[in-house]
Amino acid sequence: MNLKDYLEKHGIMNWYEWATKYLKLPSPEEVEVLPYGTFKFQPTVNGFTGRDEKGKLYVTFKNNPPNLETFSHELIHLAGHGEIYAFNLDVFLAYAIKHDLPPFNVLALLDLSLNQVESVLREFGFKSIDEYFNHRLTCENEQVRLLIHCRKILGDCSDIMKLITFIQILYEFFREPNPPELEQKIFRKIAEKNGV
Ligand SMILES: [Zn+2]
Repeated sequence: MNLKDYLEKHGIMNWYEWATKYLKLPSPEEVEVLPYGTFKFQPTVNGFTGRDEKGKLYVTFKNNPPNLETFSHELIHLAGHGEIYAFNLDVFLAYAIKHDLPPFNVLALLDLSLNQVESVLREFGFKSIDEYFNHRLTCENEQVRLLIHCRKILGDCSDIMKLITFIQILYEFFREPNPPELEQKIFRKIAEKNGV
């Protein structure tokens, strides 16, 4: 079955259509959906994208339909990007699809500069990214606290480390079903500034 028929069958064609606002995707008719049982995956694998010997794109999902996060992960692969993009951006793409955000380039989130991030943070009352980290040091998300704690142990670290920590923190928050209001607003503002 091709991906278009698959999406229609499961009533999730709109996910694909909305995703085209954030990613350059192939036509779903060009993508084949293969049964999960065709492959010998570890049970932790929720989805997989590849090309057959003729170069035709295929995708497979453990659950049919997949959840939005798994779907977004495979969409990033279908758009031709590797694990670095898929693994770090899937939750942001899922959020954008879920909330039908205005168009922006989701891949550009990995090319943000510290200046860009801090200019957004200032709009929310933080004078610097360190001030934002201090603010979040006491939040409920344990993984986020750990990330900030580790960064502090590293001491006065480079811009790039601060930036990576920031994206990781957002990622952790966006893995939650309901990310905190503040991070949602920060993310929407960053996306808006990356509008295409
Ligand atoms: Zn992947």
